[in-house]
Amino acid sequence: MTVFLDSAGSSLPPREVLDEVVGHLRREAEVGGYAAARERADDLEAGYGVLAELLGAEPDEVAFTDSATRSWLTAFDAVPLGPGDRVLISQAEYAGTAIPILHRAREAGYEVEAVPSDASGQIDVRALEEVLDERVKLVSLVHAPTNSGLVNPVREVVDAAHGVGALVLLDACQSIGQLPVRADELGADLISGTGRKWLRGPRGTGVLVVRREAAKRLRPRLVDLHSAEWVGPEEIRLRDDARVHEIWESSVADRLGLIAAARYALAKGLDVIEREVGERARHLREGLAALPGVTVRDVGERKSGIVTFTVAGLAPGEVKERLAADGVLVHTSGASSTLLDMTRRGLDEVVRASPHYFVEPAGLDQALEAVSRCAR
Ligand SMILES: *Cc1c(COP(=O)(O)O)cnc(C)c1O
Repeated sequence: MTVFLDSAGSSLPPREVLDEVVGHLRREAEVGGYAAARERADDLEAGYGVLAELLGAEPDEVAFTDSATRSWLTAFDAVPLGPGDRVLISQAEYAGTAIPILHRAREAGYEVEAVPSDASGQIDVRALEEVLDERVKLVSLVHAPTNSGLVNPVREVVDAAHGVGALVLLDACQSIGQLPVRADELGADLISGTGRKWLRGPRGTGVLVVRREAAKRLRPRLVDLHSAEWVGPEEIRLRDDARVHEIWESSVADRLGLIAAARYALAKGLDVIEREVGERARHLREGLAALPGVTVRDVGERKSGIVTFTVAGLAPGEVKERLAADGVLVHTSGASSTLLDMTRRGLDEVVRASPHYFVEPAGLDQALEAVSRCAR
């Protein structure tokens, strides 16, 4: 039996998603992409409502993109930043967001500072409160990091950041689809997410939530003929909803697949999913911790479905290969993708197992058995 433990990498889409994507591609081959899209216009429009329901937002606060990174980049690019401004990141910042923050700082002249973690490993909210002032324009926060089982306390960070008027850009790439991520409850101004991970959607899909209040403070720059209209020789008019962050061209099949994935998650219920993922991750974490030579590397008070570990005397890449030979599919996470956190904890690389609710308990035991063979 193959045990799939990489939903934090790219998960297995359910049949409903597959049928939607493949069915639409077939239809495009019959009538052409424009006519095929027209036939699904109502479903595509309804998709904004589906994602809004999933993410606790309004339909006009939702934009579809081609990845979590694209969502994040377009939102970040629209945040006005200049000399004297400060941008705060956390220790668990992902390289994909740290790099653009550092890159733009060279040109825009703002300062970038990393907020420390507390003893549990989550962002230190007290330390954050101490460094916040009205020069802080943006707090970049990762909800569930790629390289540990942490879930950061979003609401507390948002409340502190809003106290000085800073925007919060939440990277929810690893949390959407495995636990409830609701803009109305978390309070984050901007939320980016992907289809391919816990949501079980197609690759090349992403979503962005821009709260209405936050939208008023953004300066969207990456606009085209979908996000804006050319109304006079020198006059353009930008859309006033979140779709100002979209561009015209997209994979309609993949978008329909993403909408189907969101419907699928809603039908199962995010509370149910969180509980079932949590049970599996806990079982794996406890089983791994009991194995001689195995060290669980997860941090944080609240844990996600991501389980990370190392095996004494064996490189994580080697562990991954040996587990694959036993039919257990995991992934590894290297220091460069979460440099601050990995450096602070003295880690080069960890093995990452991310069980979704579709993994049977017997599969988890097969995985534990395979790891224990490695560790022997
Ligand atoms: C995977 C990941 C991303 C980027 O997602 P893409 O689908 O590659 O755009 C962002 N943040 C975190 C924490 C991730 O794990």
